[in-house]
Amino acid sequence: MLNVSNITRRYGNFIAVDNVSFSVKKGEIIGLLGHNGAGKTTIMKTISGFLEADSGDVCLDGISVKNNAKALQRVLGYLPENLPVYPEMTVAEYLDYAADMKGLKGNTKTAEIKRAIKATDLSTKYLAPIDTLSRGYKQRVGVAQAILGQPKLLILDEPTNGLDPQQTHQMRKLIKEIAQKATVILSTHIMQEVNALCDRVLILKGGKLVLDDKLSKLKTSQHIEFRTNCTELAIISSISGVKHVEQIADNTLKIEVSKINFIDKISAEICSSIICAGFEIYSIYAQKQDLESVFNHINNNDQNSQQKEVSNAA
Ligand code: ATP
Repeated sequence: MLNVSNITRRYGNFIAVDNVSFSVKKGEIIGLLGHNGAGKTTIMKTISGFLEADSGDVCLDGISVKNNAKALQRVLGYLPENLPVYPEMTVAEYLDYAADMKGLKGNTKTAEIKRAIKATDLSTKYLAPIDTLSRGYKQRVGVAQAILGQPKLLILDEPTNGLDPQQTHQMRKLIKEIAQKATVILSTHIMQEVNALCDRVLILKGGKLVLDDKLSKLKTSQHIEFRTNCTELAIISSISGVKHVEQIADNTLKIEVSKINFIDKISAEICSSIICAGFEIYSIYAQKQDLESVFNHINNNDQNSQQKEVSNAA
């Protein structure tokens, strides 16, 4: 279990990560989303102990990164955005070196290198110098070093970057397999990736964590459409949790609820109010939204409010 508690990280006076907290259970895959500069890399580097937080702490299975960065890094697999590989090394030499860095020895080391090579389908390039590899193969080397030693925590920055569709499919399968025994944090700009892999989504904006929710819950919008002959909108708008009601077509009401967690309860109350008032209900449909629209909504709201602040200031 990973616990990130109130981490803040500054670069000079600039706050890149601002009091961020979240927990991730074993077996969970979380997607870290945010525009460029939102603070994703800074958080990932802080969690992995490569960057120190100014305040707050990160604990993995009770090991605090503050004084035990090396211990945490032994059970960590990290694929950074730009992997610092030595281009003149062959894939074999590099993985041998990466295994040494993780403290793997003897038969375990050999078995782990074999496993990583197989999982990332790198056997044909085993003896090739890294600088002769295509971008996609280099990415596979990055993933292979990250999964050496069967890490408890796997942090992947854009893992399918540069991979072809078949490799992307294989990589996603591999990440899911690893996640059965580990905690996985995935940073990506590809919404499809998050949809395909993640249980939960964290959205960062300006260094702050602005959303932490299950993907399934995010996809349920706050809007419900009722096909009903009810014409007395006031009996619905007076229900606690109903934010707005409007008739959008004949026999069709669109209702916005303010508390998404209580959407079932509020829908049930709306039904009984309509029926008790002597009207009929023909169908009910809870609208769905996709991750992209949630992401855009969060970021556009920010832009709108910034624009407002600017125009107010002017
Ligand atoms: P991207 O998607 O572009 O990789 P990100 O979400 O990973 O962005 P970070 O790299 O964590 O964002 O950067 C967060 C903020 O901190 C940005 O404004 C960035 O310019 C700033 N920053 C990052 N590293 C440094 C540094 N070494 N010195 C000064 N500012 C930095």
